[in-house]
Amino acid sequence: MTTTLAAIPKLHLSLECGLCGHHRLLPVAALLSGLDPETTVAQVARSARCQGCRGKGYGKAQVVYVGASEYALDGARERD
Ligand SMILES: [Zn+2]
Repeated sequence: MTTTLAAIPKLHLSLECGLCGHHRLLPVAALLSGLDPETTVAQVARSARCQGCRGKGYGKAQVVYVGASEYALDGARERD
């Protein structure tokens, strides 16, 4: 997938590990605070480390729309 993060700032990335099936949902807005906006979805999936089996890279990546709840989650995270 060659979509860049800059093109989808309000969406989430749904990542699934090809080895253990661990699933992770990442808000693109959070990724943009630490990565180059021109980073592609495929690059994020490849470089993310699986939190389930510690394997490098997620086999499946999908762009998903989560909705307004993402803003509530973002707010909670920023208070940490
Ligand atoms: Zn895994």
